[in-house]
Amino acid sequence: MLQYSPHGDRPRAALNHRGDGKIKIMQPIRIVAIPTEVAEAVRSTMRAPGYGFPAHTEVGAEAAPCRHCLRTIDPKQATRILFTYDRFSGVESLPQPGPIYLHAEQCSRYAEDGGFPEELRSSPRTLEGYAHGRRLVAQEYVVDGQFEPAIENLFAHPEIDYLQVHSTTAGCFTFRIERAAKSRESAR
Ligand SMILES: [Zn+2]
Repeated sequence: MLQYSPHGDRPRAALNHRGDGKIKIMQPIRIVAIPTEVAEAVRSTMRAPGYGFPAHTEVGAEAAPCRHCLRTIDPKQATRILFTYDRFSGVESLPQPGPIYLHAEQCSRYAEDGGFPEELRSSPRTLEGYAHGRRLVAQEYVVDGQFEPAIENLFAHPEIDYLQVHSTTAGCFTFRIERAAKSRESAR
């Protein structure tokens, strides 16, 4: 690298830039877990919201993320509820229901400004970038836990309004990501 730079301080600046990349200053994002009202309604009725299909309670043999707190549901210990959920609920009029898990016991909804959920970082996930109208614009498969650059790349597409995060291996919806600034605009 050094021989390409006419200035002694250039390479150091480049290194600093790469170092900052690890801390990663990115545009503010909102991590959108399922609403608390949905979690509470499922726990109290044991029915899928909007569909009425019976929900199923079990202690799972394998770890799975709770879509409300975005933490791992402890396998062989914690009770979880499996229910049908429209993954486009709240953003689109066109539904696409699928199965998701929820802690059977009360849990705290993941903070929207909490950044990418650390407990979900180690498993392969697909980020799908959608334009409103449920039009898939681009997607990224992340296997190394480096989600922030992928999120940045997708939000660099001006057409993309929001991201959906899925388990790459199981295909299930995990949570949604929005631009924080965009969310404030649409909330007006
Ligand atoms: Zn939970």
